[in-house]
Amino acid sequence: MKLLIFGPQASGKGTMASRLAKKFNIIHISTGDIFRENIKNQTELGKKAESIINQGNLIPDHITNELMKDRLSRDDCANGYILDGYPRNMAQAEYLDSNVQLDTALLLDVPEEVSIKRISSRRTCSACGTIFNTLTLIPKKEGICDACNGQLIQRDDDKEEAVKKRLNIYHEQTEPLLTFYKEKGILKKIDGSKSVEEVFTACLEALS
Ligand code: AMP
Repeated sequence: MKLLIFGPQASGKGTMASRLAKKFNIIHISTGDIFRENIKNQTELGKKAESIINQGNLIPDHITNELMKDRLSRDDCANGYILDGYPRNMAQAEYLDSNVQLDTALLLDVPEEVSIKRISSRRTCSACGTIFNTLTLIPKKEGICDACNGQLIQRDDDKEEAVKKRLNIYHEQTEPLLTFYKEKGILKKIDGSKSVEEVFTACLEALS
């Protein structure tokens, strides 16, 4: 099973992708997580990516496409995967399409106000990456991660200026994927503004 999940920032892609990956025993591949891991470890890729990501811009396509070609050729992808954050523009979608046939592209649709509200209240553990939300997924102790006691921070790219830029990029560059996958007959649109359980059920129905 080869799936893609896409949608605007904070539409719940990461949460749904990790739940679907568990359910179907497939790998969850998030390009954002791969870049963040590289930044944390200060690899060559991480050093190049850091300022680009913090400003809310996209990593150049040739870097992202190569990275993903390599990632998708590994053994753990044999049973299938769910892509989260890639492809993010038409050039990437066409590149992927020339190597891989996806089964389903799930679009998590949320209005812009919901997206902005969710991002501005998002907090991430600086140690283990667990995500909290100051409105809906409140940590037991303010500012501290429930999982590892790490410090909760607001990611630089979750700050207002970067968020506006990322949403503009989403509308201009990622939204055209909707038509691309619709024409291929594999697009399933899900209302992502509902509760996590409701959205998950809708994803399962769309995949059944
Ligand atoms: P995300 O966590 O998916 O929002 O990704 C965080 C950041 O990583 C994005 O704002 C981009 O700077 C970068 N990134 C993630 N996926 C891609 C991609 N497919 N193409 C280019 N840049 C990406």
